Amino acid sequence: MKTILKNGRILDPSTNMDVVGHVIIEDEAIAEIGSDVEIEEDADQIIDCQGLWICPGLVDLHAHLREPGEDHKETIVSGTQAAAAGGFTTVCCMPNTTPPLDSPSLIDFLFDRAASPEAGGVFVAPVGALTKRGEPDRLTDLAALKRAGIVAASDEGAPIQSARTMIRAMEFCRQLDLPIMAHCEDEDLSLGGCMNEGSVSALLGLKGIPRSAEEIMVARNCLLSLQTGCRLHIMRVSTWHSVEIIRQAKYLGADVTCETNPQYFTLNEEMMQNFDPHFKTTPPLRSQIDIDILLQALADGTIDAIASDHSPHANYEVQVPFEEAPYGMATLETSLATALTALVHKGVLAPLELIRKLSTNPAQLLGLDAGTLQPFETPVAQITVIDPDLEWTFDVSKTFSKGKNTPYHGTQFKGKAMMAICGSEIYRDAKFDLKRLQVPAPA
Ligand SMILES: [Zn+2]
Repeated sequence: MKTILKNGRILDPSTNMDVVGHVIIEDEAIAEIGSDVEIEEDADQIIDCQGLWICPGLVDLHAHLREPGEDHKETIVSGTQAAAAGGFTTVCCMPNTTPPLDSPSLIDFLFDRAASPEAGGVFVAPVGALTKRGEPDRLTDLAALKRAGIVAASDEGAPIQSARTMIRAMEFCRQLDLPIMAHCEDEDLSLGGCMNEGSVSALLGLKGIPRSAEEIMVARNCLLSLQTGCRLHIMRVSTWHSVEIIRQAKYLGADVTCETNPQYFTLNEEMMQNFDPHFKTTPPLRSQIDIDILLQALADGTIDAIASDHSPHANYEVQVPFEEAPYGMATLETSLATALTALVHKGVLAPLELIRKLSTNPAQLLGLDAGTLQPFETPVAQITVIDPDLEWTFDVSKTFSKGKNTPYHGTQFKGKAMMAICGSEIYRDAKFDLKRLQVPAPA
């Protein structure tokens, strides 16, 4: 089987390639790329990508697929379908399921479900639990989890509070060469809060979460990473001072990377005036000053990656008073479009730099076989074809995810994933111009 993507803008951050040319996929792998590649008309499929970007498949560092245990919010099947539709070909799933991903048999279960024919066809890279649920000082069997295939360890929304336990976890993970993905929150400081602490929370009469609840833990974890040598990836960076602390930790030589999520650079606390639970996240939406600093940090490289933090919930769970609503929003199908609209079309990031943060950097920081278009570099071709200029309106009733909890319903975006390829084609957008597809007539 031979597929040719022709005349697209090839964006491959792994070699800083930005040229118009062709990509040839043969037997599930990328065989040739470039502007002087010969197009053989006998290919099984020739897809005209004029005006489109051909990129390494997007890698989501941080999504909640909810299975096992919370199938009413999402399943591995619906979540991977949503991932493919959002342009992702690899998705890292978080361990805070029920039961949590804390044993090798659950990792096996996950891989089985992801490989089932009805699933989205994307690679699922599981993140294992760092400690046992309800026993915050007892580490899981990280060596066994690593053998089972986890790519990192995390306690996600219930992060390790004890610095002593965190040191132990980091020492184990350093020996296993396993990165820790840390959601940074001092639960003493955030307890009972539901939005950013400041003048808006005071005006609305809602209990606030101070910025320091995040920043203290960012600083602690960076210092402990320096002390132990453990690879640390900080999730969901949302404040100005978190950025500055991470910048300093990198300067000091810490093996630290970080991500932010599209909600943190497009939405702010002012939007909570209607008490709409769709805007409730942890950490909470911050102020315009934080957004400005996040944009700067994306541009200067302090923020390495953009992840979705896809957090689907059932409708009945969200349709409750603001204080009782769960945190998070379903974002797999809007993250790329949000980033294209807010970053590329506003001149914050060049196209190659956006793809670096959505694909090459996430793949490299977890050591995944992804994030590049170089021939035979990865055993299976992972490619996302993007129309950067397509203007469209997001309609939540048309999403693959079971989670309809999103503040982006009705939002106008510019840019969309048109195709996702993971060995073979796994997603094609209904808006993709079928006239672009040219299959030669049989002889
Ligand atoms: Zn999360």
